[in-house]
Amino acid sequence: MSSLSIKSFVIIVILFLVCSESLIFYSFFQDSKRSINEILTNSLQSDVLNLKHYMQKNLKQKDINEIVSHMDNLIVINPVIRDIHILDNNKNIVYDPDIRMPQGTVHATGECIPISKIVETDLFTQNCYSFSIKTYKGLSPQYYYANIYIDSKYIDNLVMQQMKKTLLLFAIATFLFSIILWLLFKHYVILPLKGLRQYAYYSENPPKNFFIKEIESIRYSLSMTFKRLKKEQEELYNLSTKDPLSGLYNRLSLIEKLNWLISKGQRDKDEFAILFLDLDNFKNVNDSKGHEFGDKILLHISKTLLKATRKNDIVSRLGGDEFVVVLSEFKDENKIVEIAQRLKENLSKPFKLDDEEFTITASMGIAIYPKDGKDVKTLLQNADIAMYKSKELGKNNYQFFTDDINKAVQERISMQKTIRNALQNNHFKLFYQPKVDIKTNKIVACEALVRLIDPIEGIIPPYKFISIAEENMSIIPLGEWIIKEAVSQIKKWEQTPLKDIKVSINLSGVQFKDQELLQKIEILTKDIDRSKFDIELTESVLIEEFQERLNVIKDIKKLGISLSLDDFGTGYSSLSYLKDIPFDTLKIDKAFIDNIYTKDDLTFINMIIGIADDLELNVVAEGVETKEQLKLLKEINCEQYQGYLCSKPVPPKEFEELFSKN
Ligand code: C2E
Ligand code: CA
Ligand code: CA
Repeated sequence: MSSLSIKSFVIIVILFLVCSESLIFYSFFQDSKRSINEILTNSLQSDVLNLKHYMQKNLKQKDINEIVSHMDNLIVINPVIRDIHILDNNKNIVYDPDIRMPQGTVHATGECIPISKIVETDLFTQNCYSFSIKTYKGLSPQYYYANIYIDSKYIDNLVMQQMKKTLLLFAIATFLFSIILWLLFKHYVILPLKGLRQYAYYSENPPKNFFIKEIESIRYSLSMTFKRLKKEQEELYNLSTKDPLSGLYNRLSLIEKLNWLISKGQRDKDEFAILFLDLDNFKNVNDSKGHEFGDKILLHISKTLLKATRKNDIVSRLGGDEFVVVLSEFKDENKIVEIAQRLKENLSKPFKLDDEEFTITASMGIAIYPKDGKDVKTLLQNADIAMYKSKELGKNNYQFFTDDINKAVQERISMQKTIRNALQNNHFKLFYQPKVDIKTNKIVACEALVRLIDPIEGIIPPYKFISIAEENMSIIPLGEWIIKEAVSQIKKWEQTPLKDIKVSINLSGVQFKDQELLQKIEILTKDIDRSKFDIELTESVLIEEFQERLNVIKDIKKLGISLSLDDFGTGYSSLSYLKDIPFDTLKIDKAFIDNIYTKDDLTFINMIIGIADDLELNVVAEGVETKEQLKLLKEINCEQYQGYLCSKPVPPKEFEELFSKN
């Protein structure tokens, strides 16, 4: 069924109303006609009966002519009566006044019905009533017949007038009623519905309360639905653009905003800065205090960042403990320094968490658009690189991205690749540097030093790759390879004059992170005389997890492998290690040998040799380059030396030649 507009509906209702009003009018009209009839009938009846009575009474003594004035009067007074004819015994008209009808008009008496039946008839259809009287004039009876004619024109007029009046009244009433109905409908139904439709379509400018209950309830439901929709929309938006923990922008919306800033920057030649922020040692906090506590810290950091930045700066959390602040609209780099400094100060302020005072710091890296990158990826990457530089330089600080930093990072990345590649393709080689007995000047031992032989770049020295291999843990497989290689060299030399040469390898602190280090050493060295195998360690190995690592070192020692303390004298608490760790050898760092001619260093070396003697430790002087240095060492009874004076680290073949010449 097709739907109907309210307008058409109201018009139909009004038409229906007019129809029903017409019906009502018709019945009302019939009613009033009936009541007119009744009133006129009653008056006519009483007038006619009065006349009859009057005639009856007076015609006994009087002649008809003497009483005509009464009848004339009656015709004049009662407008319903058009005419009265009185007939005598012989049906001759004895009275016919000439009042409203031309004289001589004869009415057939047969048409008239007796007045006694007047109530059964109505004046609209019957136009003549009659009665008869009997009197005596002397002794002879005298009959009179009266015919009373009705003025049907008068009655018609009367009815017509009544009808006109009623019709007018009804028409006016219907008209007024229709207008009022229309206005009410328009005001209370049509306009509110229009407003609702508008509201439903645009879901804004909610209309005010409506008078009609049902429409009002629709308005209310609509506004509730819109409110709910809006809330859901907001929640959905937040979910997709905000980080649920901190409420800050997430990575996705950060990228979106940065893209927008870049296109604005291209247009308006604007600059903006990206501040990449990473909490220092957050992993330790998370591990030791639990994730819930970690979350609280992240929340605290988020709030601090929001407080320390301006309204139009963008603060976002990339995930974990990484945050990015975008500083737009700055005049010069001093402003960035100011903000970074403020962030640093605010972040490192102690704060209370779970009734415990806590301090956490952050390292920051800053990249500037367009100088440090023209796209989001590069900018974020470079800010991240600068952040790492800031970590390297001691954390709790900020660092601008520079070309130098960039170059170093690129080199590091490329070196990581080279290391992975070298491990797969066997590009590592061990070089051996002699350790010489100072008294006999004979080569008694050697230190295995790793080299990366790159097919393109040639020999790469360890300072270029060891720290990187430590960073990405590839020092663990590399270290394993070094042990294997050194052991295999010892085995090769077993049947040669070099059979008594002791071989040292260097063990990095990171290798202790390998839980299987001890087992690996045990397995790899099982086929050799372990007294010919030595491990050099620096103090730094024991900076972390002292007790655990000390236990491993003691277990290595128990295998029969000797231990050397490398770079001795460069650390801080060198002497305290000597009593805790079962070292066999002290290697005096090259820095002291370089300065052996100064009185202080010679005294120091002398003192070390004295202590070593007491502790029954062997002493090796590192980095001996001149005969003078050797002479001085000989004078203070140093046992061995290692250095370019004898030889640089060389491949096994050359080492063998060196040994046979020696
Ligand atoms: P280190 O253990 O102190 O090794 C001694 C370094 O001093 C070697 O440098 C050696 O070539 C150098 N050297 C020896 N005598 C002289 C001298 O008379 N003059 C000068 N100027 N230098 C001399 P290299 O081989 O470049 O190794 C540097 C460092 O790299 C080593 O210091 C060690 O810490 C690390 N390293 C080398 N090979 C390995 C390895 O196989 N494993 C581990 N974990 N670290 C290694
Ligand atoms: Ca060494
Ligand atoms: Ca050394």
